[in-house]
Amino acid sequence: MSTSLEMRKIQKWYGGLHVVRDFDLYVEPGEFVTFLGPSGSGKTTALKMIAGFEPPNGGDMLLGSRSIVDVPPYERGIGMVFQNYALFPHMTVAENVAFPLKVRRVARGEIEQKVLRALGLVKMVEYRGRYPNELSGGQQQRIALARAIVFDPSLLLMDEPLGALDRNLREHMKIELMRIQKELNITVIFVTHDQDEALVMSDRIAVINEGKLVQVADAKSLYYRPQDRFVASFVGESN
Ligand code: ADP
Repeated sequence: MSTSLEMRKIQKWYGGLHVVRDFDLYVEPGEFVTFLGPSGSGKTTALKMIAGFEPPNGGDMLLGSRSIVDVPPYERGIGMVFQNYALFPHMTVAENVAFPLKVRRVARGEIEQKVLRALGLVKMVEYRGRYPNELSGGQQQRIALARAIVFDPSLLLMDEPLGALDRNLREHMKIELMRIQKELNITVIFVTHDQDEALVMSDRIAVINEGKLVQVADAKSLYYRPQDRFVASFVGESN
C-alpha cells in the first residue's frame, strides 16, 4: 500500500546555517523520486526530517492526508535504508529482518511469514540462518532492504544505499531496486549525488543546491530543459 508524501514549506536551520529552505514537494503514491545534489546540499537533512529523526523548524509534512510532523519516527510507517547497512551483528539474517515486526508486537506466526516474503523479494531466503559478517556487502544491503520493507511501509527512504558497493554490484542492485519497487508499488525517496543513478532509476528527480529545490522534473526534461546553469552543469556532468 503506497502513500503520497507532501512537504509544505519545510525549513531547517542548524544555528545560523539555513540547510533546507522552503521545500515544497508532492510525491505521488508509488512514485520513485530522487533527491540529487552535491555533498552538503541538504539531501540527508531533508530525508531525516521525513523519517522523523530531525524536527523541521517550519512547514508541514503529510503522509497521505495525515500530518506527520508531530508523529514519532517508528509510528510513521516509513522504511529506511542507509549506505552503511547497520545490521545487528549478533542477530541472524532472519532475526535482523524480524526486528521491526517484534518492535511492533506482530504475532509470531505472522512474523515468520512476513520475514520469508521479504527475504524472497530480495532473493536471500537461503541465507536466513547466517550472520551479517558472513555476507558480502551487496548481500548485507539486500538484508537491510528486506528489513526496511518487512512491515509494509507506505514510504521507503534510501540514503545513498548503493554508495558502498563496487561498480558492478551497484549496476546490478540498481536493477534489483527498481524491480522490487515495482513489485511492491511502494513510494520511494532516494538520495544520491550520482547523476547516472538518478537519471536511470527515478520517475522524477528533485535537484537540490544549497538547501533549495532547484528543479523537480523527469530525467528527460532535466536533461533537455534544465532550469538554470546549476542544473545543466550538474545533471550533464559525467562521473
Ligand atoms: P547532503 O546530504 O546533501 O550531503 P546534509 O543534509 O548532510 O547534506 O548537510 C547539509 C548541511 O547541513 C551541511 O552544511 C552540513 O554540514 C550541515 N549539517 C548537517 N547536519 C548537521 C548537524 N547535525 N549540525 C550542524 N550542521 C549540520
